[in-house]
Amino acid sequence: MENKYALVTGGSRGIGRACCIKLAEMGYNVLVNYKGNKAAADEACKLIEEKGVKAEAMQFDVADKAEVERIITEWQDANKDAIIEVLINNAGIRQDILMMSMTDEQWDSVLDTSLNGMYHVTKQVLKPMLMNRYGRIINMVSLSGLKGQPGQVNYSAAKAGMIGATKALGQEIAKRNITVNAIAPGFIKTDMTEELNEGDLKKMIPMQRFGEVQEVADLVGFLASKQAGYITGQVVSINGGLYT
Ligand code: NAP
Repeated sequence: MENKYALVTGGSRGIGRACCIKLAEMGYNVLVNYKGNKAAADEACKLIEEKGVKAEAMQFDVADKAEVERIITEWQDANKDAIIEVLINNAGIRQDILMMSMTDEQWDSVLDTSLNGMYHVTKQVLKPMLMNRYGRIINMVSLSGLKGQPGQVNYSAAKAGMIGATKALGQEIAKRNITVNAIAPGFIKTDMTEELNEGDLKKMIPMQRFGEVQEVADLVGFLASKQAGYITGQVVSINGGLYT
């Protein structure tokens, strides 16, 4: 596993950080992408290194195509033998507001981060993965992308777009032994859901609680494993039984 890497976008905090640690436990060296929170990324790297693998904080805005291209190309040039075997497209933001009041910026920033971010990063990683004839791509979507959520037209559209891309790309590259799947969490305890009222919302969740980041990371770990080699183009929900 010495030259094998996993790249996790938005790996500095929340679900992404838990995924980084899980992949480190599986023996992968981990590239921790983040946008601005260097302290959180450094802390994630420390936790990864405690698992006995290499960690590198990698700052880029997934929405910035040129920056993504430059940073990943520079890293690959400096690490010629390294192969990114696992990509977790996890970076995402919310800008919740009713559509009638939504600004173009609120629409664009959410689509640019989740949907275009997935496109930009996957594009950079795909060719070497195809040549390696092995890979795992996991896209972090959402219950909102499956059922649509009022007040989240932008976010629901971004995640639904990612689901379509997951299904299409899964079929394109299956014969190269690369799987592409999406994970659709419901409510998970992170900074993103911090201001939500768990007390009220949990009443509609059959499990009567928000999920933990570790629970999502364990699912990521399975889909990223060799054992999940016949699963591709799927959306796996993890939501405590919330009807989708
Ligand atoms: P979070 O705690 O808010 O963390 C967001 C992460 O994404 C941070 O690491 C942040 O980096 C990074 N990020 C944001 N914009 C970025 C950009 N433009 N470029 C690079 N990195 C960027 O979020 P979370 O709750 O863990 O959510 C992770 C993913 O799961 C998201 O895609 C979200 O939509 C999805 N999801 C979450 C829930 C939930 O209940 N939490 C439910 C369904 C789906 P910095 O640290 O540098 O800011």
